[in-house]
Amino acid sequence: MDELYADIVVPLASPAFTFKVDTGLRNSIGEGMCVKVQLGPSKLYTGIVWRLHGEAPHFRTVKTIRDYVLHSPRLAPNVMRFWEWVAEYYMCTLGEVMRCAMPASLKPEGFTDVEFLHSGMAPREVQYIKLHHRIANECSLNDAFESLKRAPKQYETLLAFVSRFAGKDVFAGELPRKFLNADPVILKALIKKQILVAETRVLETGEFQPLPAVLPELTEQQAVAAEVIEKAHGKPVLLHGVTGSGKTEIYIHLINEQLRAGRNAMYLLPEIAMTSQLVSRISAYFGDRVVTYHSQVSDRKRADNYRLIAESTGGMLVLGARSAMFMPVDNLGLIIVDEEHDDSYKQNETAPRYNARDCAVVLGRIHGAGVVLGSATPSVESYFNVMEGKYALAALTERYGGVQMPEVIISDTITAVKRGERISHFNKALRVRMEAALAAGEQVMLFQNRRGFSPYMECAECGYVPMCRDCNVSLTLHKSEGRLRCHYCGRSEPVPVVCPSCGSHAVVARGFGTEKVEEEIARVFPDAKVARLDRDTAQSVRAYSSIIESFGHGAIDILVGTQMITKGFDFAGVSVVGILNADNLLNYPDFRAGERAYQMIAQMAGRAGRRDKRGNVVIQTSSPDNSIIKQAASGDYSAMIATQLAERADFFYPPYCRLIGVTLRFKDKTVLDDAARMFRDLLAVDLGKRLLGPQPPLVDRIKREFLVSFLIKTPRGESFAAVKKILARAVMTLNAERRFKYVAVVVNVDPV
Ligand code: ADP
Ligand code: ZN
Ligand code: ZN
Repeated sequence: MDELYADIVVPLASPAFTFKVDTGLRNSIGEGMCVKVQLGPSKLYTGIVWRLHGEAPHFRTVKTIRDYVLHSPRLAPNVMRFWEWVAEYYMCTLGEVMRCAMPASLKPEGFTDVEFLHSGMAPREVQYIKLHHRIANECSLNDAFESLKRAPKQYETLLAFVSRFAGKDVFAGELPRKFLNADPVILKALIKKQILVAETRVLETGEFQPLPAVLPELTEQQAVAAEVIEKAHGKPVLLHGVTGSGKTEIYIHLINEQLRAGRNAMYLLPEIAMTSQLVSRISAYFGDRVVTYHSQVSDRKRADNYRLIAESTGGMLVLGARSAMFMPVDNLGLIIVDEEHDDSYKQNETAPRYNARDCAVVLGRIHGAGVVLGSATPSVESYFNVMEGKYALAALTERYGGVQMPEVIISDTITAVKRGERISHFNKALRVRMEAALAAGEQVMLFQNRRGFSPYMECAECGYVPMCRDCNVSLTLHKSEGRLRCHYCGRSEPVPVVCPSCGSHAVVARGFGTEKVEEEIARVFPDAKVARLDRDTAQSVRAYSSIIESFGHGAIDILVGTQMITKGFDFAGVSVVGILNADNLLNYPDFRAGERAYQMIAQMAGRAGRRDKRGNVVIQTSSPDNSIIKQAASGDYSAMIATQLAERADFFYPPYCRLIGVTLRFKDKTVLDDAARMFRDLLAVDLGKRLLGPQPPLVDRIKREFLVSFLIKTPRGESFAAVKKILARAVMTLNAERRFKYVAVVVNVDPV
């Protein structure tokens, strides 16, 4: 018999390795299964069987696969095709996709078998509840109820159990304990009375709570949008609906239909929104069918959910942040990407540097699933796709329940200062509205896109600015900590008392961040209760939720925060929203700065307004005539799109070309510069004018390493794949050079 070989993907940056398949496994091994493999002299890894074949590799000592990793589920072919696309498109290895996609405990590794076993997981056991065997008919069940007349809570729990079997045989039925939602003490009492029994078994899938019988009826406009989505015939649909128009309501209807039809669905949200109201809103409808997946979920839980989804044949909803994209879902009928404009869908830090929004479109194509991209402020790229006819458009123009859009005022900071109408960070226009709101017992949200106290310090005498020792960036003052902190590497140091350059005592804070705003509010509005929401105050989910909850209950009058406060929740009590310094948003050296500013302001404005009263939004800026500010204020989305598209056409940026960013990184500047020169020469031959660089990035030294970057622009209509091939070859050639072997090359396709 011919030998059987397997290409095995391991969670490393290397390509697949070829192994021989032990004869004992020949008949059972299949593509997508997880196996234990040894690499090097002793290290054991979990690998995925990517391809089985009969081609003997060229090298002499081919190792053999002898064991499966039993608890790691098998990948469906569609999931494998998707991973392949990601690896190819984003120029990384399948191993890097695997590393990102699979929870740690499902891909054990180690130097010995014992270590290997212990770093993996055993399947989780769950308790099932059923009736005790002595209760085998209506009569004995009635007796049981009768006996509980004096124990109302036990009575209720038994009733709750029985009613879960409406129309089915309760005497043969059983229910996972967590579905029963019963008080443990009460349950224990029922078990002791031999009415119920608890049985521990390995978790099984395919047992769901029933789907909701009724959903809120859609409004006419919503129903039309839902119909557009249902009849899109394989085209992705952009759902452009103003804040509060009921996009989520439409999602719930669409999900319900898919689950009812026995298919799975996927609902993606920006990371931060995952910890919020929205998740409970969705869970209220789909309960145990909802499988959440994001960075705050423990690895153990993620592993359980990963298995649950891998084994699901339908009827489940994956609800998660961008990484949920890699859940091994088969029989997928629908993918929703909510807040599709959000840049947190793009993973920039580690490979695969994917954009979950764009991946969703591909994943949908692979599965033949519907794809809905929803936003109140769709990205320029997505809207352009609508204009090109690649996406269908569904629109919601009105808020649900006749709630009015807020009134937006642009307040000129420079004029306010001249007239003496600015106190601290607050122009008169904002202050009077805040005062009125507070007096009426309403709430205020203030947006400032910088955290910390002040973005940098400066010596008033000589202009010295404290910088990070390891990064080429100024340090941010965090006053409550009493320290200067680097936002790139996290390093911190004490606040300088004297200027290290000239000895002056006049080292002062410049600019302002959320922490300073919080302090100033306490001064200007001494009676208001203030809280701050940013990465410093919301370091844990608990801290985050507690701030959100207090604000929701009205225990906080003014909430100041970074873009964290723009995402994923609604508060009925907010009547005034202030954007403290819109200039910050505009003065950002990125071709998307204008678009981002528009989105940020519009999303923030969307938080204002209540059913009974029109909300107020004040945008403070020193450039009140800026077209983006004006468009954001009037909510003129089409004007914004037109301006942005014109600009991008002029300067040749997406969607008129496709970008690849390349960053070279090394600790020695001279070597790095030489490497950059060689790299440019390698690429310039084939790419010519499409290659820009080398140039120093905005921050050109991070964690003691120097950085230099390139940008490759591929015109629409030219082969992106061909450019990538040229690039991949250049990276190989560069790293093959001895001096440049350890120069890190980071390739970022479609950088955001
Ligand atoms: P969006 O996601 O577009 O911001 P939501 O779906 O959150 O809007 O809807 C805003 C509010 O209006 C929510 O409180 C939601 O429950 C309510 N709502 C929207 N559509 C309906 C509907 N058809 N029936 C009942 N309530 C609705
Ligand atoms: Zn000085
Ligand atoms: Zn630093």
